[in-house]
Amino acid sequence: MKSKQDFNMHTHTKRCGHAYGDDEQYVLAAIDAGFKQLGFSEHIGYTWFDIPTDRMLYRDTNDYLTSIYHLKEKYRDKIDIKVGFEIEYYDSEVDFLKDMRERCDYMIVGQHCKYVDGFGFDYLCRDEDVRDYTDLVCKAMRSGLVSCLAHPDYFMLGRRSFSKACEEAAHQIAQCAVECDVLLEVNLKGRKSGKKPYAQGDAYPYPYRPFWEIIAQYSVQCVYGYDAHVPVDLLDERAIDECNKLIEGLNLTFADEFKIK
Ligand SMILES: [Zn+2]
Ligand SMILES: [Zn+2]
Repeated sequence: MKSKQDFNMHTHTKRCGHAYGDDEQYVLAAIDAGFKQLGFSEHIGYTWFDIPTDRMLYRDTNDYLTSIYHLKEKYRDKIDIKVGFEIEYYDSEVDFLKDMRERCDYMIVGQHCKYVDGFGFDYLCRDEDVRDYTDLVCKAMRSGLVSCLAHPDYFMLGRRSFSKACEEAAHQIAQCAVECDVLLEVNLKGRKSGKKPYAQGDAYPYPYRPFWEIIAQYSVQCVYGYDAHVPVDLLDERAIDECNKLIEGLNLTFADEFKIK
């Protein structure tokens, strides 16, 4: 476990409709925080379906790429900026995602919805949905498109108990991450949604300790992700320490750098 990480590769912009601040403010905050590397990973917009408050509109993609590539040049002496996307994996969108991968530096997968046009895993995630979630994130990892799985325990937002299906999901996700050499993210934003009343006791949805107890049985490489939706999130110096308390004593390995695939 670490108390500091000098990079953050999970950063949003106001284009997704639920993040705030100018792109440059995120860069300035990252420099103030002493980061060596900052990766922007805006929620990718799909060509045929908009969810304006959840993802960037597809038509804003060029503006996003242009802006971040400009900042990358402007601040190249101060910080290493990477331009990426947080994708949701759907078989129907693979060709599109491959094209988009060519236009950016890296991708992470954060699977929030079962379908491109909705069914949020945070609204309700029954055991069968946990299995679908696991299939989707494992397909994403096997696709070779993504370097990291963001908040792998995201499904706990839409549940109030950690079932056998959740245990199996954790094992499958860990095995797949090892096999595909994909980083698993310990997400620092889960604390912000407050504790939820789980059958096993009140807890933050992620990082959800029983999930990470299983992950710790495998030789997975982990990273912390701020999942910044406002620039000042990057200046939260206590985030990692507070998060570490939730996974204290677990044998998790944190990567020294973010390996891009
Ligand atoms: Zn978001
Ligand atoms: Zn995110």
